[in-house]
Amino acid sequence: MQISLKNQIAIVTGASSGIGTGIAKSLAAAGAKVVINHSSERSKDEAEDILKEIQNVGGEGMIFQCDVSKEDEVKAMFEKTISEYGTVDILVNNAGLQKDAEFTEMTVEDWDTVMNVNLRGQFLCAREAIKEFLRRGIDLSKSVACGKIIHISSVHEVIPWAGHVNYAASKGGVKLLMQSLAQEYGAKKIRINSICPGAIQTPINEEAWGTEEAMDDLLKLIPYDRIGQPEDVGNLAVFLASDFADYITGASIFVDGGMTVLESFSKGG
Ligand code: NAP
Repeated sequence: MQISLKNQIAIVTGASSGIGTGIAKSLAAAGAKVVINHSSERSKDEAEDILKEIQNVGGEGMIFQCDVSKEDEVKAMFEKTISEYGTVDILVNNAGLQKDAEFTEMTVEDWDTVMNVNLRGQFLCAREAIKEFLRRGIDLSKSVACGKIIHISSVHEVIPWAGHVNYAASKGGVKLLMQSLAQEYGAKKIRINSICPGAIQTPINEEAWGTEEAMDDLLKLIPYDRIGQPEDVGNLAVFLASDFADYITGASIFVDGGMTVLESFSKGG
């Protein structure tokens, strides 16, 4: 199966690190032009390096700084992408963060920051993407779908997570945001799905794999007995963005080495 996303335009939010970088590289390798979004001046160098890596292997794209929780900045990112490339075909709503705390210690700021980036950000970007998909209509030279949105959720859209209630609540919200949008726009041939990663080796969860002891504990939760890599998620994003996935919408697909099978229950729970 040879997947080509040639001439398709993809925005990947939070592509300056981790999973977003893996997805941007995979989409570019499949032929898409990628917009590498990063949130601040601080991560500009990383975003530029990733763009160079993509260009060095024949890919195309640009970087765009935008805080996905800010409506005006999200609108500006879509306007720039459309003026530069003509349209947007694929949105990967990946940007996300954690602000962990025991619940009684969790500040309103911890709660709001996580909800604003992980859920409001996905709403704002999805809204701009769908407006553009509807304006453009289907372009059969690129895809049988009118547009594709891939939300990056988490195994924590189904597994509750003590000590991280803001994060788990945000991903639970992403689940129903995705499903409701898939229902609302299915007849318009807009496909909307979620990828739910388990433990993927990125800076967000370094405390879970950064020492040998932590890694051993982590692997007890993963039947497949290895930590995931950003390209594990990137490969699925390419498939979901392609017409090979044309009958898939409203789905949460877990990329977790079996974590949601809850390995501990194989030993009695
Ligand atoms: P990461 O390495 O920390 O990367 C997070 C990315 O999000 C960075 O590029 C960051 O860019 C960006 N970001 C943060 N706030 C932003 C904002 N306001 N606007 C735009 N971009 C923003 O984390 P990751 O592990 O790749 O996580 C990516 C996604 O996967 C998240 O949604 C996370 O919840 C999800 N996920 C990860 C795992 C895992 O095991 N790693 C598991 C399940 C789900 P800046 O540096 O520019 O802020």
